[in-house]
Amino acid sequence: MKLEASFRLVRSKRKTLGICVYPSGEVVIRAPERMSREEIWRLVETKAEWIGRKLAELKEEEGNLEEAAPKHRYFPGEVFLYLGGQLVLETREEGKKRPEAFLEEDRLVIFGGDGKPEQRRRVLESWYRKAASQYIGQRIAYYAEQIGEYPENIRIKEQKRRWGSCSSKRNLNFNWRLIMAPPEIVDYVVVHELCHLKHLNHGLEFWQLVERFLPDYKERKQWLFENGKYLRW
Ligand SMILES: [Zn+2]
Repeated sequence: MKLEASFRLVRSKRKTLGICVYPSGEVVIRAPERMSREEIWRLVETKAEWIGRKLAELKEEEGNLEEAAPKHRYFPGEVFLYLGGQLVLETREEGKKRPEAFLEEDRLVIFGGDGKPEQRRRVLESWYRKAASQYIGQRIAYYAEQIGEYPENIRIKEQKRRWGSCSSKRNLNFNWRLIMAPPEIVDYVVVHELCHLKHLNHGLEFWQLVERFLPDYKERKQWLFENGKYLRW
């Protein structure tokens, strides 16, 4: 069977072969480190029809796409940012159970569900919010002890223009999309908001306090300013 696609083989510590068809038309084959090339291609052959169907579906989709359409369609094989790295979307056992998302190595798996993009988006967003809450919570605990300031409450929210904020009631809010940024950038926002518990302004003393805990904070701040717009779906 002849396919118009580019194949890429990636070796990893997994136990079984996995095939992902990316929206770009690239087919990535993930194989166990010790599996022979003959065995890999034999298995890929058995999946040729499925691969062909996926590629055809993509072509069709492409034709219907409007310019303003969002970048993600929540198809298997799409890539999502997480702590500065990339997670590949995988779907399993569609139509069977209530949808659920979980992490498996570098793959973000949606199990069950109806397979519709809107439902997948919701499931992924709730996974991201949970992950953000856990990770940011840990970083708050780490830096709160160093800075000697403890927030009243920590909330993970949808915020259009801000990565974090601090209220006069000592509540800290964080944008859930922050979890897409590299760890050192998450730390910058965490330290920034914690320092507001001492100085609720952006005065000289505030920045000096931030600098005491993150001497390179200016670079991190600049990174967020330049790249923040990419931390979205
Ligand atoms: Zn601030």
